[in-house]
Amino acid sequence: MNYNEEKQALVNYGKKMSTEGLSSGTSGNLSIFNKESGLVFITPSGVDYQKTTSKDIVVMDLEGNIIDGDKKPSSEWHLHTLFYKNKPDARAVVHTHSVFCTTISALRMPIKPVHYVIADANSIEVPCADYKRYGTEELAKSAVKAAGKSDAVLLANHGIVVCGKDISSAYSLAKEMEYVAEIQYRAMSIGKPILLTDDEMKEVAEGFKNYGQPKKEDK
Ligand SMILES: [Zn+2]
Repeated sequence: MNYNEEKQALVNYGKKMSTEGLSSGTSGNLSIFNKESGLVFITPSGVDYQKTTSKDIVVMDLEGNIIDGDKKPSSEWHLHTLFYKNKPDARAVVHTHSVFCTTISALRMPIKPVHYVIADANSIEVPCADYKRYGTEELAKSAVKAAGKSDAVLLANHGIVVCGKDISSAYSLAKEMEYVAEIQYRAMSIGKPILLTDDEMKEVAEGFKNYGQPKKEDK
């Protein structure tokens, strides 16, 4: 078994998560799901991101059986595997305790459409899951239930979980949701934020479909 690409990507994004301020200390965790093999690659529990190497990445199946690696997997492996079981397009999951998402989660309120980039979560708002203790299957169930179709969900008094079609999309979504949460926090500090309406958000979602450079076949 090799899978160096998956392991190295997790090492690189773990370092990025720590240097870009999305995680302090060893908090947060990342995983990649390889659908063909049915394997989940996940960061180890309690290892400093700056010191993590590809040898530390744990390989498990969707039931949590360790297939390879001598470290303990992230304590939130239930959260990661349950997302893959419930979200057919998810190939990567990122969980962080980023400050502004966690601040909003302490109010047990959703991240609201205070900025249009929230549409990247495939949702008008990012719901907040009921509080359950960290590292439990109950937390995973609560998160998946609250997420529904959204690719991002807050965990009450804890942080945020997001998923994406690959690790780069999942990581970008975690950063964007932190940005929207910060705008919400700042706007709530000086007044009552005016939220984008459902129609305005529909328009944004439509626009996102055609965002970026046209694909070759479109030319
Ligand atoms: Zn956590």
